[in-house]
Amino acid sequence: MKINNSPWIDQLRKDRPLKKLSKDESTDVAIIGGGIAGISTAFFILKHTTKKIILIEKSKLAYGATGHNAGQVVSYFEKPFHVMAEEFGVQLAGEAQKSIELSWEFLEEMYTEAGLTLNFSRFTGYDGFSTFEQVEESLKNNLARREAGLLIHQIDIAKESEFSTEMLSKYDGLYTLKEKKEILLCLETEDASFIAMLSEPKGVMNSALFTEEVSEYLLKIYPERFTIYEHTLISKVVLKEDHVLLAGPANAVITAEKVILCTNGFENIEILNQGGLAIDTRFHHNVNGVVARMTGYLEKKNKSPTAISYYVDAPEGFADMDQAYFYLTRRPFEHESDEKHNLICVGGPQHAIADREEYLFEFDYPEVVQKEVDDFVKTVYDPEPNTKIDYKFTWHGLMGYTPNGVRLIGEEPLNPVLLYNLGCNGVGILPSIYGGSRIARIIAGEKLAPSIFDPKSVSK
Ligand SMILES: Cc1cc2nc3c(=O)[nH]c(=O)nc-3n(C[C@H](O)[C@H](O)[C@H](O)COP(=O)(O)OP(=O)(O)OC[C@H]3O[C@@H](n4cnc5c(N)ncnc54)[C@H](O)[C@@H]3O)c2cc1C
Repeated sequence: MKINNSPWIDQLRKDRPLKKLSKDESTDVAIIGGGIAGISTAFFILKHTTKKIILIEKSKLAYGATGHNAGQVVSYFEKPFHVMAEEFGVQLAGEAQKSIELSWEFLEEMYTEAGLTLNFSRFTGYDGFSTFEQVEESLKNNLARREAGLLIHQIDIAKESEFSTEMLSKYDGLYTLKEKKEILLCLETEDASFIAMLSEPKGVMNSALFTEEVSEYLLKIYPERFTIYEHTLISKVVLKEDHVLLAGPANAVITAEKVILCTNGFENIEILNQGGLAIDTRFHHNVNGVVARMTGYLEKKNKSPTAISYYVDAPEGFADMDQAYFYLTRRPFEHESDEKHNLICVGGPQHAIADREEYLFEFDYPEVVQKEVDDFVKTVYDPEPNTKIDYKFTWHGLMGYTPNGVRLIGEEPLNPVLLYNLGCNGVGILPSIYGGSRIARIIAGEKLAPSIFDPKSVSK
């Protein structure tokens, strides 16, 4: 049994000074939650408005999902795009997809303006498929992407695959045929069960270090307009017609014009709407918890960064897994003073939990999961005979899935003093950043066209 030991948190500054809330305060905007969503929201509001911001974090910056993820930057949604197009209509789904793809630029903007030096690599990543059903999902996505006016993704199918012309006839122009050995080369495997692949833009970054470094930049350039309180739990939010009161520890109260929840959906905050109908906070409880486990080891730094997902043909004994796939990232390991290594991170095994209270940060990392990952690494990625891999890092985190699988970004319809940038965090790095930029536009007074991210509240 191993403890929850994330490489992202490992790289944070241990000696960073922390400030706790100890007396009443007032501000224009209060942001609750100091993960990548909270810090991105602060970045864009500070940049595009003259508002003062207080950001409040119950633990330490980036110790939530932001410090326990796979660190893979991708621009897709949790749901396949063709399902999104059916559910929301091609136009709205297409607009949302474009917004997330545009968020690569928002990430670059934050990175460049804050003068960051942490490793952030962008490249073409791959998904390897071993069954027709897996390939067909991507082909259907390409069909819907074409209909929505989006660029189609490169899908390569092995000439040696046994897919008949009839199976592929609907998807003419949406794939190319390739020698299998070329596909296996991109997937960096000798496992011949992979018969197709999808190529798309991917990246790798330590989102916790990113959050920490952006926060330091913001504190430095906006000393009069930006304050962060850590180890400060907000237990109650009282919404009035034109302002909000936040109850902090030791009876300290923050008064603000607006409050933005960047709490990931697991906040346990009591929300009282004295400025309108009672807000139904049931969505907080409708967020389904899925525990995802990751493991990481160091290898020689002799290959470039990559991100590859391997969709396997579910073998026997995957009882604990919802999805039969492993994802792997490779990147330089930061902050090593002597020999330099690459960090290989592998994830995949996940399980749903009935009640989010069941999740404890201190959960052990089960040996059975470690063995599944080790078997995968040794058979698919790095089949060096008789090597023992030293898994330096093993960690897990709680991913929350909103019922429609889309992040909530925008004003609470029952009282616009409250806004959200939260939820749906299996893929959340770019959506959190996009959420930050969208919220800043709302705070700046812009009227935005309806989107699938808009919160739709119901009164109790
Ligand atoms: C195991 C795992 C793997 C993932 N892999 C990827 C990936 O590869 N790529 C990707 O894009 N996304 C991935 N994600 C999702 C991504 O990490 C999240 O979507 C993103 O970090 C969410 O950021 P956030 O700021 O919304 O939430 P968080 O980082 O969880 O921040 C929310 C913060 O709110 C604070 N808070 C909550 N309640 C209160 C309160 N009452 N008072 C004060 N503070 C409060 C919490 O302490 C926390 O720090 C993964 C997630 C997990 C768990």
